[in-house]
Amino acid sequence: MSGIIIAIDGFSACGKSTLAKQVASHFGYLFIDSGAMYRAITLYALQEGLIVGGNLDQAALIQHLPRVSLEFKNIRGQQRIYLNGQDVEDEIRKGEVLNYVSPVATIREVREKLVKEQRAMARQGAIVMDGRDIGTVVFPEAELKIYVTASLEVRTQRRFDELSKKGVYMDKNEISKNLRERDRIDTSRLESPLKKADDAIVLDNTNLTKEQQLQWIIPLVDLALSKSLS
Ligand code: C5P
Repeated sequence: MSGIIIAIDGFSACGKSTLAKQVASHFGYLFIDSGAMYRAITLYALQEGLIVGGNLDQAALIQHLPRVSLEFKNIRGQQRIYLNGQDVEDEIRKGEVLNYVSPVATIREVREKLVKEQRAMARQGAIVMDGRDIGTVVFPEAELKIYVTASLEVRTQRRFDELSKKGVYMDKNEISKNLRERDRIDTSRLESPLKKADDAIVLDNTNLTKEQQLQWIIPLVDLALSKSLS
């Protein structure tokens, strides 16, 4: 196995994926956005009518899981997720998926399926994966674990900017409410709640630019890499 496993966890919209992509591109690693997998299963549940009137039919979704196939493809240098052969990368970032992804992610069977797939993707090493349980559950043996935080205000602004760039308008109060609700569910659920792994290094990037956060992590990756070789 060549290269190390880098786990990046933290709250919603605090720049985990941005950091993970920066590291992947700097070191030539494979980047996996585990949140996209939970989002895609949520989209599937919505498409199949398993969420009706605000109620998620957990038992039905569990029954459907063997029919859900997820795949990441690199399209013109950008990673995109495919749900049963369809590119759903844009669709999973908006609409009802935002409201139901955290409830879907509480389901043990959903997590078991995705954790298994995430581990399979990392078999060749040299991977950076971001999510909520990567350093605690998916790769407790990861050579480098980062736990990212940022103020709610900054996270709201970043999510607002990200959506605006895609032409999606969402009220800032609504974004903030959605983030707080997802934080609440993600940290309090029974199955693999979001928490800092004991050996994770905390990065508060509230006041950091993208370039500054990359410069912060590069020596940590170098150190973890040299330790793994010695
Ligand atoms: O990272 P992202 O915001 O795309 O994740 C969407 C949701 O998926 C999170 O709010 C969380 O409920 C769930 N998730 C999870 N475990 C992961 C990644 C995401 O429970 N490893």
